[in-house]
Amino acid sequence: MVRSLEAALEKVRGRFVAANPRSRAAHAGAAATMPGGNTRTTLFHTPFPLTMAGADGCRLTDLDGHRYVDLLGDYTAGLYGHNNPVIRQAVDKALDAGWNLGAHGTDEARLAAVLCGRFPALELVRFTNSGTEANLLALATATTHTGRGTVLVFGGAYHGSVLSFGDGAFPLNVPHRFVVGEYNDAAGTDRLIEEHAADLAAILVEPVLGSGGCVPGSPEFLALLRRRAGETGALLVFDEVMTSRMSGGGMQELLGITPDLMTLGKYTGGGMTFGAFGGRADVMSMYDPRRPGSVAHAGTFNNNVLSMAAGYAGLTELFPPEVSRQLFDRGERLRTRLNDIGRARGAPVRWTGMGSMMTVHFQHEPINAPRDMRPTPVLRELFHLDMLDRGFHLARRGMVALSLELGEAECAAFCAAVAGFLDDYPLLDGPR
Ligand code: PLP
Repeated sequence: MVRSLEAALEKVRGRFVAANPRSRAAHAGAAATMPGGNTRTTLFHTPFPLTMAGADGCRLTDLDGHRYVDLLGDYTAGLYGHNNPVIRQAVDKALDAGWNLGAHGTDEARLAAVLCGRFPALELVRFTNSGTEANLLALATATTHTGRGTVLVFGGAYHGSVLSFGDGAFPLNVPHRFVVGEYNDAAGTDRLIEEHAADLAAILVEPVLGSGGCVPGSPEFLALLRRRAGETGALLVFDEVMTSRMSGGGMQELLGITPDLMTLGKYTGGGMTFGAFGGRADVMSMYDPRRPGSVAHAGTFNNNVLSMAAGYAGLTELFPPEVSRQLFDRGERLRTRLNDIGRARGAPVRWTGMGSMMTVHFQHEPINAPRDMRPTPVLRELFHLDMLDRGFHLARRGMVALSLELGEAECAAFCAAVAGFLDDYPLLDGPR
C-alpha cells in the first residue's frame, strides 16, 4: 500500500514521464512557438499532455504507441467517434464538389431544416464557427431585440472562451453587464431577477452544467427561469452546446421547457468546426436581409461545406432520436455502476451528470451546484494519470462524454479500471 496520496502521485507521474518520451519532446518543441505548447487550454495537463498520432472507432493512439479507449469524446464534440464512415463519406463528397464557394451551398438549408424539426425552440436558425460565437451572437441578439443590457448567468457555467463563469471574475470575458446567480438556487435567482428586471435582456443557462462538473439543473429552477423571463421581457437562452445530445430535441424536450433562443455546437457539426444560434422567428427575423433595417451577421465560414455536410449526415444517418435515447440510457447505466462501485467500498467518490455526460468528484457530500464541490487537485491528477496508465483517456477534471462507438464492453472495462483504482488507493479520505 502506498504511504500517502502525494507519494502515490509522484510514482504515477514518474511512470507517465518514463512511458511518454515522444509526447514529452513534442510538447517541449511546441512550447517554442505556442504559450506552454498549447492552443486549447482544456487539453493541457501536468506533467505534460499526450500528443495523439491517430484515432479509430473509440480508440486513440499516442505518439509513443499507446492505445487508449477514448472516454472523453472531445468534450462531447466527438459523439460519432473517430473516422466514422458516414461522416467520412459526407466530407469526401463535399470536398469533391468544391469548397470556399463564397456562395450559398446545398447543405446549409437542409441542416437548418433538420435542426428546426428537432429542437422545439428553433423556428429560425443561423450558423457560426463555434459554440462561443453562437453564445456571443445569442446574447447580442437578446440585447438588440430588448434594447436592454443586463445578462443573468450562473456561477460555474462555461459558455465559451470569453463567456466563462467559474471561480471569480474572468479577465477575457466580453463586457456585458453580467449578473452571476447561483445555479439551482431558485429563491436567490428569483430575487436577482426582481432586482434587475428593468434592464434584463437575457438569462443564459446550461440545462446541465457541463464543464462546471456535470450538474443537472433542477426542473423547478429551470421552470422558474422560463416563467420569470416571460414576466420580465428578458429572453431565456438555453446553451445546449453540450446537452442537445440528451434526446432528439435536447434538454428542452426532456424538460418540456422551450427557451426563446438556444445555442448548439460540438457534435452537431458532425465533428467539424460548428456553432448555431436560433429560436423565436419574431426575434431571429431581425437577420432577414430582405427586410429593411435588418441586422447583418456575417462570417466567412458560417456555411462552410464540411460542417454543413457532416452535420446533416450525422444527425440524419447516425443520431436519430431513438439513438439519442439509447445513448442516454447507456450513460445512465454506466454512471449508476460507477457510483455503486464507489459506494460498495465506502469511498468518497461521486459521479454526477446525466445521460452520456458525467464527471467524477472525490467526496461523499451531494452536489447541487459548483459551490458544493471540494477542490481535490491531487486526487484528480492521480486518477487521471492512473486511468491513462490503465488505457483510458478522459479529462483531467474527470469528465467523460460517451461516443456512439463505445459499447458495453468498453463501459465494463472502465468500471473494472475504476474499481482497480479504488482498491489500489484506499486512502481517499478528506480533500486532497
Ligand atoms: N457552451 C458550452 C456549454 C460548452 O461546453 C462550450 C465548450 O466547451 C461552449 C459553449 C463553447 O463552444 P466552443 O468550444 O465551440 O467555442
